Amino acid sequence: MKLRVLCASVVIAMTASAMASEVKLPNVKIFATGGTISGGSASKTDTTKYQDGQFNVDALINALPDIKTIANVTGEQVVNVSSEDVDSPTLLKLSAAINRSLEDPNIQGAVVTHGTDTLEETAFFLDLTVNSQKPVVVTGSMRPATAISADGPMNLMEAVSLAGNKNSMNRGVLVAMNDRIGSAAFTTKTNSTTPDTFKATEQGYLGTFIGVDPKFYYPPVKPTGQPHFSIDKVTSLPRVDIIYSYQDFDDVLIKASIRNGAKGIVMDGTGNGDVPKRAMKTLEAAMKKGIPVIFASRTGSGYVTSPKSSEGIGSGYYNAQKSRILLMLSLANGDDLNKIKTYFEK
Ligand code: GLU
Repeated sequence: MKLRVLCASVVIAMTASAMASEVKLPNVKIFATGGTISGGSASKTDTTKYQDGQFNVDALINALPDIKTIANVTGEQVVNVSSEDVDSPTLLKLSAAINRSLEDPNIQGAVVTHGTDTLEETAFFLDLTVNSQKPVVVTGSMRPATAISADGPMNLMEAVSLAGNKNSMNRGVLVAMNDRIGSAAFTTKTNSTTPDTFKATEQGYLGTFIGVDPKFYYPPVKPTGQPHFSIDKVTSLPRVDIIYSYQDFDDVLIKASIRNGAKGIVMDGTGNGDVPKRAMKTLEAAMKKGIPVIFASRTGSGYVTSPKSSEGIGSGYYNAQKSRILLMLSLANGDDLNKIKTYFEK
């Protein structure tokens, strides 16, 4: 009799403690946009010719029952496309949806699943526009869900764990890929096909994962001087083109860009943002007409200074694709050239 009472109270205690630990799990919302993490192929070794966007957010969550041990997850399908097809309206929609969801005191963090090709652009856009100290983590995969050693499931587990962790707060938007934690401002895709592709050559990683537990190298910190833009009243973003420079580069593409309505240009220049003299002349004329030009570097890393003898703005720490995101947002915000300069020259 006594043993039975004891057993019953042990069961009650265990159930209560299991319930308590269930209650403690963070609530994380997953915003799915497509990409390889939702891609599939008939061949288990196909890592390049698969189809993106084969699985929706529910399929991603259901394929990963273990996720329930680290967070209570819910999903929202924003779009289901390859990330080269993510456009400005999608960015505005995604950022607004995340802002809305993080206002909910019951949500501890957000995860975005995304194609890796332009993941860094979306991550940086969110970094500049999400209005919350709660974690926002962007992840994806290099191998489709159907491949041997698919990296998507572990990347998603790690991203959800990171988004539900209090230590991830106040660090800006984070990129979680291949057991590494990177900052949205600096992390870039460096290899076209391998899983160890996301890096920040100069600034490095913010941390790593042991199992699914995030281990940060430093306390919370954000990139120096990074602005925040409210997109509450923004319904569209202005056209900003990126133009690549090379030997023999002339002004034909610059003129075409302006003719087609570019409100700003990012030159992916050589070295410290250089372009040939002839092209520079046309860019000078464009700047005089009020079209800001950001000079980035095709080298892939380093700080780019502003050209001495022009109104041009060096991209600072940002590569061309991140410079484009920052310039689009500052133009949408109505900032003048001097203000825009401060964003890049911090
Ligand atoms: N091009 C596709 C995309 O960016 C596949 C790349 C990937 O997700 O790894 O969505």
